Amino acid sequence: MRDKRILEALELAPVASLYGLAEERAHGSEAAPEVGRGPQPARISTPAGAVAAMGWTELREAVRDCTACVLCRQRKQAVFGVGNEAAPWLFIGEGPGADEDEQGDPFVGQAGKLLDAMLASIGIARGREAYIANVVKCRPPGNRTPTPEEAAACAPFLDRQIELVGPKLIVALGKTAAMRLLGTDASLASLRGRVHRYRDTPLVVTYHPAYLLRSLPEKAKAWEDLLFARRTLAAA
Ligand code: URA
Repeated sequence: MRDKRILEALELAPVASLYGLAEERAHGSEAAPEVGRGPQPARISTPAGAVAAMGWTELREAVRDCTACVLCRQRKQAVFGVGNEAAPWLFIGEGPGADEDEQGDPFVGQAGKLLDAMLASIGIARGREAYIANVVKCRPPGNRTPTPEEAAACAPFLDRQIELVGPKLIVALGKTAAMRLLGTDASLASLRGRVHRYRDTPLVVTYHPAYLLRSLPEKAKAWEDLLFARRTLAAA
């Protein structure tokens, strides 16, 4: 009953019955296969080797103080990550937007509301079964896509977060996360529906919630991806 309400709130009830997905939900799951402003601060780039040995507190401080790339120049604050630090599910987005830059947590704006609703539709919640982080920790000006150099500058931080959480499954939200974690430029469509690996951890790819806000058909596909992810985790 609760699931039905969530699907309705997500505008997914019609597409769910169209795809026969409501039935799968009800019957459970089988295993499945800048420009900068003002004076610029000195660059602080913590060596990757040092980051790889950090615990949560040190890592949080290193991210807070990082000036390794140009994104530090216009941020209000770095956005570290949020959720259960030992969660089985790890969701990785692209980078903070204006709301996240303001509030200091990932996915707190419109895209975040959709993400939370999608998580609820498969029975998980941030802070309980999920941890949420981004490829880059500082807001790209104008919400542009982070450059490969910016993603690389932040890579030791994300890699260490993944190691510390030790998730059973990673979900890459959108192309930037998929590219960063899989080292591929393949299309998002071609990466969906398969189990990839980040180091030893299973990883699945789905659409970014901000993209889903603009596309109902892709929303249905994203829900299929989450069901696939849930089966993958159950089988892991
Ligand atoms: N989009 C992202 O990729 N991450 C956020 O934290 C917010 C929006």
